[in-house]
Amino acid sequence: MAKSKTILIVDDSGINRAILRKIISSEYNVCEAGNGVEALKILNEKQTTISGILLDLVMPEMDGYEVLRRLSADDELSNIPVIVSTGNSDKEYEKKALELGAWDFVTKPFDADIIKFRLKNAIDRSRLTFLEQLQYIADFDALTGIYSKNKFFEETKNLIDSHPDDEFVFVRFDIDKFSLINSFYGLKAGDGLLKFIAELIKSLAQKYGMTTYGRIDADIFGICMKHYSMENAEKIVAGHMEMIKAYNSNYNIQPTTGIYVIEDRSLTASAMYDRATMASKTIKGDCMKYLAFYNDKMRVQLETAQEVSNEMEYALEDEQFVVYLQPKYDIRINKPAGAEALVRWKHPQKGLVSPGLFIPVFESNGFISKLDFYMWDKVCKLIRSWIDRKMPVYPISVNVSRVNMYNPKLVDIIVELVEKYDIPPKYLNLELTESAYTDKDAFIDETLSALQSKGFSIFMDDFGSGYSSLNVLKDISVDVLKIDMKFMSKAKKEGRAENIIASVVRMAKWLNMPVIAEGVEEKEQVEFLRGIGCEYVQGYYFAKPMPVSDYEELISNSETFKEPENNNAFDNVMLDGVNKLEPALEAIAQPAIIFEFNNNGLDVLFENTVFSNSFGYHLISNVNNEIDYLSSESQNIIFTAILKAIKTKGTVECEYERNPSGKNEQWFNLKIKYLGQSGQGSILVGSFTDITDIKSLDTKLEQIKKYQETLAHIGSEKNTVLIVDDDNFNRVVLNSILEEKFKIIEVENGVQALDIMEKEKIDIILLDLNMPVMNGEEFLEKRKSIDGWENIPVVIISADDRLEKQSEVLELGADDYITKPFVQKIVANRIENLIKLKGVRDADMAVLE
Ligand code: C2E
Ligand code: CA
Ligand code: CA
Repeated sequence: MAKSKTILIVDDSGINRAILRKIISSEYNVCEAGNGVEALKILNEKQTTISGILLDLVMPEMDGYEVLRRLSADDELSNIPVIVSTGNSDKEYEKKALELGAWDFVTKPFDADIIKFRLKNAIDRSRLTFLEQLQYIADFDALTGIYSKNKFFEETKNLIDSHPDDEFVFVRFDIDKFSLINSFYGLKAGDGLLKFIAELIKSLAQKYGMTTYGRIDADIFGICMKHYSMENAEKIVAGHMEMIKAYNSNYNIQPTTGIYVIEDRSLTASAMYDRATMASKTIKGDCMKYLAFYNDKMRVQLETAQEVSNEMEYALEDEQFVVYLQPKYDIRINKPAGAEALVRWKHPQKGLVSPGLFIPVFESNGFISKLDFYMWDKVCKLIRSWIDRKMPVYPISVNVSRVNMYNPKLVDIIVELVEKYDIPPKYLNLELTESAYTDKDAFIDETLSALQSKGFSIFMDDFGSGYSSLNVLKDISVDVLKIDMKFMSKAKKEGRAENIIASVVRMAKWLNMPVIAEGVEEKEQVEFLRGIGCEYVQGYYFAKPMPVSDYEELISNSETFKEPENNNAFDNVMLDGVNKLEPALEAIAQPAIIFEFNNNGLDVLFENTVFSNSFGYHLISNVNNEIDYLSSESQNIIFTAILKAIKTKGTVECEYERNPSGKNEQWFNLKIKYLGQSGQGSILVGSFTDITDIKSLDTKLEQIKKYQETLAHIGSEKNTVLIVDDDNFNRVVLNSILEEKFKIIEVENGVQALDIMEKEKIDIILLDLNMPVMNGEEFLEKRKSIDGWENIPVVIISADDRLEKQSEVLELGADDYITKPFVQKIVANRIENLIKLKGVRDADMAVLE
């Protein structure tokens, strides 16, 4: 039999070594060391793998105990079984050696059989345990105890193969933004959730049988179970997802599930998993959907993505990517005011390909940075050629993909470009998608400021698409806001879209930020946008993205855009001449009148039917009646506007308030146009638009603005933290952590806390649970019952780290839970987070109410 294992004999006595060698050399290779130092040298050199050690205890230089100590301190060496040889069988020696990690004993004088037997046993045992451990580590997830990926895949394959007559589904799910739970509530909370999920799946498997499951990675779980019908699968999954969500309502848990109904049983489990993953990818980011089934279209998509990746490098070299330009219009004058550069792929076989089909692929494989640079270069070159050809030059905006924002050379690259073509930076605008700002990355902030200081304008693209609230506007450095009407169409159903857009535009105006509305397809949208003061529009209504030559033609003629057909005919009415005026005014949707203004005051000559219908009476015989509804201030506003219209012989607008008896106040926009002179005075036409809703929005926005200011104080002005804890020591510690940033008030129990809250403005409460007089839970109950108090965030600080306790008090309305002993930085961070979060939430609520 070939000797495959090597034993190291460590003994200072040459005779002993020789005896031992003689006993074991028929079965093992042998190497020898005369003392501990030599032994460790051999072991560390690892030239031969040592399968076992026979170790003498009493040796010069380094004795056996020390060798044991060093071996057990070393991760790898500690796995080698050591048999200790001693001259006497004193229990104390044995115990000490065992404690130090020896596996077994032999006593001198040596008995050949015993030595061989013990050595073999120890080696077998060590290999076994080691392999078992390895296997266990490989097969089971350390945190949850359920199968890990490979074992789960293996068992899944076995399950399917051993039940050829049953159908199966492969379910894959994960938790959206799981890392937020970790960073908000701590790793322990995250682990708690994962363990909960594992237990839930375990019970699911027990209930339905014929199921395998495992934790595939971080927050990704997989389940393979018997398939009955799509409805059945959906029902089971939905039920369990609800249970996961309910684990802790504060965490805002959003599971995303992809399901593959296993049609192709020959696939590996890993390929089945890929298909389920593909399905779940289709719903990422869509908060309305949590579940999707795999279909073959998804596979085709994946294949297309592969194709795109294969062709892109060559396509770029071959200049297959071309610049299209979509004009932006200034809707105050209906003229072009620049354009956005959008890429098109002129594919030799497929023709013109839209970016929707390849940009996402480029974004995930990183190629987008190259394409972006290519586009910027082409656009700069174009601008140069316009300057050279003495053509009108309007700024062109280019898209900067998110990946590029993290490119440390970005500023240099862009500056080099405009220098290369020698064009003023003001002609190159940079569009950045909203989500890039929400990262709150200091690096991005710096990059943006650097670009602005070099003279580039930054556009925030797709505002409203993501999570950012109006509040981000004041924090970030951006010059122009783009809102996409597409994103608003969802809100439209609830009738909120217009409110939201109006709020955004108004807030942007306060901040002196121009707004471009994008994706505008309909005339009504333009009218609405004009009405709320939005200056620029980009969309199919005016123009689709077009080849450069078409755009050049457009700006060279620079014609005013002709609106297709005008049904809000107020302006056209004027053009058609006075004699056609009356039927024309009948045709428009707003109340309108023709009146004469002379020394005696105001005489109404005509009113359209809409007028009497909306105001509820005829103005012709009741001018004084109407004047009664107007405050002297409103009357003043109207007369000033009339006089101005007469003086300028033009159109003047004003806004006034009307207070009809017994009704709520109304606001009107009155548009007055001078028509001409009559014998005694001037003839004018007026049309009314009810702007009561917009005005009330204004009031709301005023409130928000105030809130903004309050928000701006966060960090600059000290917020007040109320510490409620009966333990003096805890209060002192918390105080020392927080006093630098916050004003602190300390009390010893719930009753005192309620007392203080009556008198002082408290921004956040740190609450102990176990307290005399009134404990934390009782305090939370009381706080709920008083209006306004439930908005003050409460952080529990407790030594009780049981999950049940945590969810119980979170249920009672606490916002966070920190277990004692606490880490200073965590306490400080969480408190700041909560205060900020509360501010943002309040401001958002105010807008959407
Ligand atoms: P985006 O930057 O938000 O560009 C606006 C998209 O809306 C364009 O689609 C444009 O054609 C489309 N659009 C404009 N007006 C209307 C309208 O009235 N109705 C509708 N339904 N759509 C309208 P496009 O050209 O397909 O581009 C899609 C996206 O691809 C762009 O969205 C942008 O994110 C990306 N993209 C396009 N070109 C580039 C580029 O050169 N670089 C980078 N990084 N991304 C690009
Ligand atoms: Ca864009
Ligand atoms: Ca956009």
